[in-house]
Amino acid sequence: SYRKGGYHAVRIGDSFSSGRYIAQQKLGWGQFSTVWLAYDTQSSKYVALKIQKSAPQFAQAALHEIEILSAISNGDLSNAKCVVCLIDHFKHAGPNGQHLCMVLEFLGDSLLRLIKYNRYKGLELNRVREICRCILTALNYLHSQLGIIHTDLKPENILLCSTINPSKDPIRSAMSPVLERPEGNPNGGVTMNRIEKKLKQKARRAVARISERRASMGGGGVVPPKPARCLNGIDLKCKVVDFGNACWANKPIADEIQTRQYRAPEVIIQSGYSFPADMWSFGCTAFELATGEMMFTPKSGQGFSEDEDHLALMMELLGKIPRKVATGGARSKDYFDRYGDLKRIRRLKHGSLGRALTDKYKFSEADAREFAEFLQPILDFDPEKRPSAEQCLQHPWLNANRNEGHANGNVGEDANVVVSGGGGGGGMSHPQLK
Ligand code: ADP
Ligand code: MG
Repeated sequence: SYRKGGYHAVRIGDSFSSGRYIAQQKLGWGQFSTVWLAYDTQSSKYVALKIQKSAPQFAQAALHEIEILSAISNGDLSNAKCVVCLIDHFKHAGPNGQHLCMVLEFLGDSLLRLIKYNRYKGLELNRVREICRCILTALNYLHSQLGIIHTDLKPENILLCSTINPSKDPIRSAMSPVLERPEGNPNGGVTMNRIEKKLKQKARRAVARISERRASMGGGGVVPPKPARCLNGIDLKCKVVDFGNACWANKPIADEIQTRQYRAPEVIIQSGYSFPADMWSFGCTAFELATGEMMFTPKSGQGFSEDEDHLALMMELLGKIPRKVATGGARSKDYFDRYGDLKRIRRLKHGSLGRALTDKYKFSEADAREFAEFLQPILDFDPEKRPSAEQCLQHPWLNANRNEGHANGNVGEDANVVVSGGGGGGGMSHPQLK
């Protein structure tokens, strides 16, 4: 992709916008862009520099993203709205063409990284509450003040304001090569080659360590699961990022929006979408934070599509889709008969959110009931019945900081919790035909 129309190749020390920004380290990349930690010589602060691929369709997408981000940043002077702030934007000419660049406030690790770091055990509910309050603050701002639908809300697109692991803090590691730099050489001899070599060495050492550990366990021994990590000291304030797919509610962009697992039922059956579609993704994200697992992981199978499996998983966890809702979309006839039953997946294993939380995820009865009471309305099949972000912010669950005995996976005093297996996703799985 580093060719004409593609990504712009960046070397550490490269400068942008007439020398204002100096690239320090790669932070991430997406389909359309690479994102760099850069030093802003004007404000003396670190920023995130998003450099778009140069071909016209990517430039067009970047212009749209800049338009949305500008509206967000203009309306948010207090900078307390839990949405990433656009600091600057400009064009950069390189060998592969003209690249639109966005300068964003520098943020830390994504919630996906946090979930992984916590070894997929689910976060303590008080932390889930805090993160949920941030996300809802962002959605309330986008929806009711600006009229913007994010359309791709998921843990990957929500970044913590701080980093999880200070020893891996990009600012810290960006500082160390600066110290080693011989004077007068902005690159300090730190070429991509050298960095790549170092990374490869590190990977080899990690592999060696793992096989050592395996060997010391008597070869092929079962590796005991590691406990969840302690998150004390990590500030869980976060902000919503990636407005590459966002749209104005009165100008929907595409029929198919959202990442599969976070996709709302009205998007699947194509009955029209608006702000409630973001609320659905929020519900799935809250579930994932609390349990460590995605709420729905649909797969196609013999005689049914991924969409049909998705709808079946939803109904197994949340109850039957009301007939009127099921039959009201442009694609309804592909999935449902006229009674609102799935045509090709006939036998569903009906469960409930509360039961999944106690049985599969070992929540105490009280935690499960309260969390399910918060989530269930957000996951209403009828988008018009879903509460708005503003209404959710009023919910008692968000403001009840309970003393938590339960820590997921640790049954503790709650000795009479029913333990049973359960399939993928939300803990249910439907027995398939043939
Ligand atoms: P794309 O639209 O190409 O998917 P994103 O906006 O999602 O690009 O950014 C790609 C990655 O760059 C993110 O997943 C994240 O790792 C990193 N990133 C994006 N914005 C920031 C930021 N403001 N601060 C720190 N890292 C960021
Ligand atoms: Mg992205």
